[in-house]
Amino acid sequence: VFSMEHVSKAFGDNVVLRDISLAVEPGEVVAIIGPSGGGKSTMLRCATTLEQIDAGTLSYGDLVVASTDADGQVSYVRGDTMRRAKSRFGLVFQSYNLFPHMTVLRNIMDAPIVVQKRDRSEVEQQARSLIAKMGLTGCEDKVPCQLSGGQQQRASIARALALNPDILFFDEPTSALDPELTGEVLKVIRQLAAEDITMIIVTHEMAFARDVADRVVFMDGGMIVEEGAPAEVFGNPRQERTRAFLARYS
Ligand code: ATP
Ligand code: MG
Repeated sequence: VFSMEHVSKAFGDNVVLRDISLAVEPGEVVAIIGPSGGGKSTMLRCATTLEQIDAGTLSYGDLVVASTDADGQVSYVRGDTMRRAKSRFGLVFQSYNLFPHMTVLRNIMDAPIVVQKRDRSEVEQQARSLIAKMGLTGCEDKVPCQLSGGQQQRASIARALALNPDILFFDEPTSALDPELTGEVLKVIRQLAAEDITMIIVTHEMAFARDVADRVVFMDGGMIVEEGAPAEVFGNPRQERTRAFLARYS
């Protein structure tokens, strides 16, 4: 459903991604772990076209979003093709990306109506069922500041799901939350994993990554240092850098 091949990205002289290749299969849950500054967020921002890549290829299914020609020039698709690509993924950040002046229901319904031009009553029906699924019944008409951080984050997930994306990206979805609110957000992500929703999750929650991921990717210094099944990466890391990183969590 998603792939990046040989992607590089620098900010000035600071090379943040070095030849990153990652492909995700339908239904797969990939956890990305690694030290601060390793390039995890930049990777997600490049994957979701919030940042432009300097080299490589980016695809969503059969749609090639960015590619590099023989001269090393990167080009992105535009217009309708880009809009189609963008409706294939959803993104949930560390802190909630809800519109502060809109109710929960309006937040969830906005993009499907405005961007996807879908029928309002069909969208509302789906939004209400997502609200129930996220455990937010009763919050329909509240605005974000009336919700707890955990509720806001679950509303953000509902908002991303309302676009029926092929893949969801999460960037440390619980790191801004108190421990007691973290659990409720991890629980809904677990539920999505059980439903075979394809996801890439950047997280510092190692127990969660071990549990929920089909594959764990360890990133450091802008590179994928090691990847594999959770039992391998956590139980028997092959690289010294992975071992040193994980030692800090046990
Ligand atoms: P963390 O675990 O702390 O979230 P991370 O793995 O997500 O770290 P990134 O945020 O991707 O790391 O940052 C990687 C490097 O890129 C850092 O050196 C950072 O300073 C740099 N960087 C990130 N975004 C920008 C930007 N917009 N402009 C300049 N430098 C940036
Ligand atoms: Mg980050």
